[in-house]
Amino acid sequence: MIRAIYPGSFDPVTLGHLDIINRASRTVGELIVGVLNNGGKTPLFSIEERVNMLNEVTRDLPNVKVMSFSGLLVDFARHTQATVIVRGLRAISDFDYELQMAQTNRKLNPDVDTMFLATSLEYAYLSSTTVKEVASFGGDLREFVPECIIGEIRQKIQEQG
Ligand code: ADP
Repeated sequence: MIRAIYPGSFDPVTLGHLDIINRASRTVGELIVGVLNNGGKTPLFSIEERVNMLNEVTRDLPNVKVMSFSGLLVDFARHTQATVIVRGLRAISDFDYELQMAQTNRKLNPDVDTMFLATSLEYAYLSSTTVKEVASFGGDLREFVPECIIGEIRQKIQEQG
């Protein structure tokens, strides 16, 4: 059975992420969505909030598990006995960085391979940053994130003032 990790910030999870989760979960035996708890970046949502939102939107996918991690991705892979890292590729602008990461991770742990899924066309433009920007101006989020987390995003933006 292949166990894979789909790592990211998910600040917040978007329909683009969910599309990758859905498709990857059909291909592998178990998919762990790894939410990066990285001291360097200041996310809008806390690690608990990001994990909770992901749990909510993946509730109907029995082979998907959500976990937070910090430190090196390859150490998290070792710890969870995952052999595949899944990443989504949107545009050529993602490519340089993703290739560099994949090669670095392979150097650090040759037992883990990175697999890329091309984004579905309808989500190619979509990022968590876009979602936060639209939300901050009160825009309609229904095309961007799962309906069940829209209230939470709005509330967070309001709290931020
Ligand atoms: P990171 O900060 O690690 O890039 P993100 O949460 O922004 O974390 O993204 C996690 C992964 O999901 C990355 O592989 C990214 O390329 C991919 N991704 C983000 N948005 C989309 C999208 N709209 N379609 C497909 N993949 C996406």
